[in-house]
Amino acid sequence: MKALDELEFDNRFARLGDAFSTRVTPEPIEAPRLVVASEAALALLDLDPTEAYTPLFAEVFSGHQLWADADPRAMVYSGHQFGHYNPQLGDGRGLLLGEVFNDAGQHWDLHLKGAGQTPWSRMGDGRAVLRSSIREFLASEALHALGIPTTRALCVIGSDTPVWRERQERAAMLLRMSPSHVRFGHFEYFYYTRQPELHKQLADYVLAAHFPDCLAAEQPYLAMFRTVVERNAELIAKWQAYGFCHGVMNTDNMSILGLTFDFGPYAFLDDFDAQFICNHSDDQGRYAYSNQVPVAHWNLSALAQAFTPLIEVDALRDALSLFLPLFQAHYLDLMRRRLGLTTAEDDDQALVERLLKLMQGSAVDYTLFFRRLGELAPQAALGLLRDDFVDLAGFDAWAAAYVARLERQPAEASTARSARMNAVNPLYVLRNYLAQNAIEAAQAGDYSEVRRLHQVLCRPFEAQEGMAAYAQRPPDWGKHLEISCSS
Ligand code: AMP
Ligand code: MG
Repeated sequence: MKALDELEFDNRFARLGDAFSTRVTPEPIEAPRLVVASEAALALLDLDPTEAYTPLFAEVFSGHQLWADADPRAMVYSGHQFGHYNPQLGDGRGLLLGEVFNDAGQHWDLHLKGAGQTPWSRMGDGRAVLRSSIREFLASEALHALGIPTTRALCVIGSDTPVWRERQERAAMLLRMSPSHVRFGHFEYFYYTRQPELHKQLADYVLAAHFPDCLAAEQPYLAMFRTVVERNAELIAKWQAYGFCHGVMNTDNMSILGLTFDFGPYAFLDDFDAQFICNHSDDQGRYAYSNQVPVAHWNLSALAQAFTPLIEVDALRDALSLFLPLFQAHYLDLMRRRLGLTTAEDDDQALVERLLKLMQGSAVDYTLFFRRLGELAPQAALGLLRDDFVDLAGFDAWAAAYVARLERQPAEASTARSARMNAVNPLYVLRNYLAQNAIEAAQAGDYSEVRRLHQVLCRPFEAQEGMAAYAQRPPDWGKHLEISCSS
């Protein structure tokens, strides 16, 4: 275990040159204090868990101190926002502090979000508020615990620095960790600015640093692109299966590694609603829950366009065509597991679709439905769940088909079935109202609720003593919280 000042830094991305990023020094925030830290993320850096509570930790991750060999950088990228190309985005309020190699040889980018203005801040103040920093922290660590690929979060540091949004709030900083911060939008930037040498330099760097397995392929760039398609198919399958809505799937928020990236107005479904829109600013519902699949495909097409200088168009098309079938296969596999199915039958897809159709328009809590389905013997569980459905005859027919389907797979003890289903069906997800409670307490200076909620979400599949309140449906006030883009 190491102390913070013993971390080994590298600056490979910075060394790509000033065409890729600009050196910017963080602007510190006043009276920094630790709001919450992730022990699991500290461990990824080989950091002793007690390091988070040292004064140095709060100083470093609030911009007051840096490693001697640090070369903090704002990265340039562009991207498609809500379907429209924005030629210049870039890190407007975050800096890549550097890259840490842990003892296992893994590599982690440290990105300080809310570190002040950069050349890409446009009209923004370069800051992040406490509220949005807590939301990103909790979501990163909660998704990871669910087994959903995501960037990670080391800590949130709060401050006294005032910032103006709709009202005055306090600035905070979040330390984000990811093996890479390269987005689809990085490739789009060098493609649309017609800088083929730099574009190729970036592709070669990403290939060598993050897709080494593709180097041996006959066409390494194509192998890399195909891997990006595969990873995104798997990622989106997990979002859909667990009811996660990202909210701002612009191509600048899509990770080249297929990780959930850049948390804004995200939400987990409470009651199932295929049309659910979590982003209050998304008037058209472009990023509605059920649109995440075609949107991811669209985003991959935008990335394919940006790869045309390096890969034949037909080969890109073939690779893109893998997305939907791969998504379907992963999604069905996950949904089978959520339903406790251990074998595969042709009609399973239809069984899932029928269930979701019955849920639509009813008041069925998407998370608790699957959890409760596995907790009792099937007939007993279905009897209790039935009350939440509007179309009772439809539900009864579905339940009969489901029970018949279970009977066609090898018999097992009820406890074994429960254990298997509980291991894939979380009891706790990050409901917006839970985050909201934690945020309001933190804004009043009490960080205990953020920390408690984080602890609960680290073990989402395990019933935890005294934590029943975190596994409830939202109260009325918590059902329709309005959350918008940048904050
Ligand atoms: P986001 O909605 O967080 O994905 O941000 C979209 C773009 O706006 C990125 O280029 C951000 O860096 C930039 N941005 C968001 N908020 C701010 C802010 N408060 N100050 C400066 N730039 C910002
Ligand atoms: Mg973004």
